[in-house]
Amino acid sequence: MDYLPIFIDLRDRLVVVIGGGTVAARKIDNLLSAQARVRVVAPALAPEVAGLRDAGRIEHHAQPFSPADLDGAQLVVAATDAVDVNDAVARAARERGIWVNVVDDAERSAFLFPAIVDRSPLIVAVGTAGSSPTLARRVRTQIEALLPERLGQLAHYAGRWRGEVKHALPELPVRLRFWDRFFSGPVAAQLLAGQPDGADESMRRALQSARAASAAPEGEVYLIGVGPGDPDLLTVRALQLLQQADVLLYDRLVPDVIIARARRDAEKINVGKLPGRHDVPQAEINSLLVDYARRGLRVARVKGGDPFVFGRGGEELQVLRDAGIAVIVVPGITAALGAAAASGIPLTHRGLSQSVTFVTATGKQGSQLNWAGLAYPSQTVVFYMSAAQIDYIAERLQSHGLPAGHPAALIERATWPDQRVLTTTVGGMVALAQGAALRSPTLLVVGDVAALAAREVR
Ligand code: SAH
Repeated sequence: MDYLPIFIDLRDRLVVVIGGGTVAARKIDNLLSAQARVRVVAPALAPEVAGLRDAGRIEHHAQPFSPADLDGAQLVVAATDAVDVNDAVARAARERGIWVNVVDDAERSAFLFPAIVDRSPLIVAVGTAGSSPTLARRVRTQIEALLPERLGQLAHYAGRWRGEVKHALPELPVRLRFWDRFFSGPVAAQLLAGQPDGADESMRRALQSARAASAAPEGEVYLIGVGPGDPDLLTVRALQLLQQADVLLYDRLVPDVIIARARRDAEKINVGKLPGRHDVPQAEINSLLVDYARRGLRVARVKGGDPFVFGRGGEELQVLRDAGIAVIVVPGITAALGAAAASGIPLTHRGLSQSVTFVTATGKQGSQLNWAGLAYPSQTVVFYMSAAQIDYIAERLQSHGLPAGHPAALIERATWPDQRVLTTTVGGMVALAQGAALRSPTLLVVGDVAALAAREVR
């Protein structure tokens, strides 16, 4: 990160703007709405700036720039169309230790103005470090469309209650939960709809019951499937619950970019890799889930793909139910679906494949599979956790009658930035897998559809 966004209180602070044209006018407007005192240095003013001067809203130095114009300034904005003047302003400002922005010139600027979504007191600032103001504006527009018009009123309202809530609910997790419920609850909806009547009364009641409940807080567990790895494939609910959870227990295969979407101050435990240890045994994960929930925390059990597809989510659900703990299960895009989409391999296809089977051939489970059924053509078989078993799988399929030339594909790190798709055959896949130094996770697809892989699909 090359820039750190900050919010500056400019009320009654002096900001000097060099230039009096239309570009300057836009900045002056923003500065005045932040209640700054504005001094404009320019021999001539565009009509809208002249209007502000005539109304007494800005101070005007009607002369070319000289460094003395910067006296007393907190910030400087160079908004002339002459590069040499902007350059002189930038240097004079830096010499005096004053923060300077040169409009449309990140090189000469010590700070940049972000594009903003204004729901004051809530303000969203968007910047691209000068690389594309157009992109910043597009993102701004997208965010603008997401945020309700009255969000500012809601923020004000929450601000008014902040002290009282803090006093009534001194414990942070309890308080966070109160505010989460508030913002997704009926009072917030009412305020956003512009109907504040009765809100205070509802707040008082909600606060009372939160205080009563905080004596014996009830934890809950979210079994969240986060999909194959690309964070854009998270569901909306997965994201909401990730941001709500107090504690996260996640597996080795869940990428950091997804963990980064969780609440910043949540405790994050990698149960695939505790310091100095290998995978945490399932029984221990189960009891961690129960323990954290019993302490009244909201626990996210974060799993790759879908929790109920080779994810042991079923076992965890059972344990939690037996312990009387509330559970929410969030489905995720399972690896087979993510890999299929990202490699251009349709899992079923008219004339090629009438069914699709998800299997794992690891350990003892391999010997229980109906290999004769899996070796049948005109279907798709997706093998999970198969990388170490490829020779076994190839041997079983062929000895049950599948021809060596039957298509197969290995999809390594599906939907990750470094995804690889290797198309092969049942007869060729062992040699290919050995030569390719496969990295985890990898999925094996067997079936005529594998030949349809489009390597370039991403
Ligand atoms: N619950 C998960 C599967 C967990 S088992 C799901 O629904 O996807 C772990 C196996 O899933 C890995 O060994 C691998 O075969 C497969 N897998 C998970 N993510 C993958 C990815 N991004 N690319 C390829 N295979 C993946």
